[in-house]
Amino acid sequence: MKENVIILRYGELYLKGNNRAFFENVLIKNIKHSLKDFTFELKKISGRYVITGYNDYDYNMIIEKLKRVFGLVSMSPAFEFPTNIDDITLKCQELGKELTGTFRISTKRADKKFPIKSDDFSAKIGEIILNSNPNLKVDLHNPDTNIIIEIRENGQTYLLTKIIYAHGGMPVGTAGKGMLMLSGGIDSPVAGYMMAKRGLSLSAIHFHSFPYTSLQAKEKVFKLKEILEDFTGKIKLFVVPFTKIQEAIHINCYEEYIITIMRRIMLRIAERVAKKYNCGAIITGESLGQVASQTLESITVTNSVVKDLPVFRPLIGMDKSEIMQISNDLGTYETSILPYEDCCTVFLPKNPVIKPTIKKATLEEDKINLEYLIEEAINNLEVIE
Ligand code: ATP
Ligand code: MG
Repeated sequence: MKENVIILRYGELYLKGNNRAFFENVLIKNIKHSLKDFTFELKKISGRYVITGYNDYDYNMIIEKLKRVFGLVSMSPAFEFPTNIDDITLKCQELGKELTGTFRISTKRADKKFPIKSDDFSAKIGEIILNSNPNLKVDLHNPDTNIIIEIRENGQTYLLTKIIYAHGGMPVGTAGKGMLMLSGGIDSPVAGYMMAKRGLSLSAIHFHSFPYTSLQAKEKVFKLKEILEDFTGKIKLFVVPFTKIQEAIHINCYEEYIITIMRRIMLRIAERVAKKYNCGAIITGESLGQVASQTLESITVTNSVVKDLPVFRPLIGMDKSEIMQISNDLGTYETSILPYEDCCTVFLPKNPVIKPTIKKATLEEDKINLEYLIEEAINNLEVIE
């Protein structure tokens, strides 16, 4: 017996009062976009969506896509049919014949017109199942299978046994747009994932130092963007040529401050590009104390160049192991660990400053033609749709 629909449950949208229609519309749009390669229909029932009319052979792929739609909390394949005691009984009986081990019945009677109370109905159906499959046992607390009978207000009954969890969060696009500073490392894709999960759609900016960094390093970033897009929808990627800036810093600035200056320039460029392309925030993968450039003092000195936008650092309080776990779950880890050098590893100082000051950083920056270099880099950025 194969289920004929997929029930989708969403979470926090409940909290959104008058804005709820807006959140729901975005969520529906995102669901449809994620399933654009499949035939299906989507309908709304009270508090849920139901996917129908899909091809059985697409089922697994559809589930994989839906798992990545933020805003969805869980889903269940289900049998949908018009509410009718005989049909419910028959279906449960058929289902019972396929089961082994222990089970329970949970009836949820949203349709109060249905004449039998939930618990009474569960007991009655449980008995019928036991009679038709005597190998089964009832276990109300920890059953192998929980057969859920949802009798809904729309006159339909849904019969289900599986709950598949999705990532939750808010629909992408309901919170505005953020500019993700995307390196080829482990952290920044996770940072992007976490902010998209709170409803931000993403653009991304990557600093590239060809020929010090290879084309493969750039392709790795394309690949990371692609994996993220499964969760976030389309990401516009800006690739900024960073070679001249790095050379200028390397030649002119005090070695210990190279990374600090580089970070400050990256952030300045990121903010300008973000504003030009309507992003309301910058996102980085920084985690407090992870490396010299992420001490409180370093973050203070780099953050101080950002004028207008908030900088979101969703990983700031996380351990590397926690970040790696998420990276694994979302599927970027294997790509992130490919050994292509990042522009931050080029001209790396032996002892990067751990407690920089804004004053010294500014003095170092006075040694290069900062404004000209920034303008030039922005003028030459490559936009990848
Ligand atoms: P990641 O794993 O994200 O590369 P990391 O642990 O290597 O992070 P850093 O190299 O110090 O840490 O970078 C801190 C943050 O700065 C990154 O998470 C990213 O948001 C941004 N960043 C670093 N290098 C680049 C780059 N080449 N292009 C764009 N953003 C970058
Ligand atoms: Mg890095």
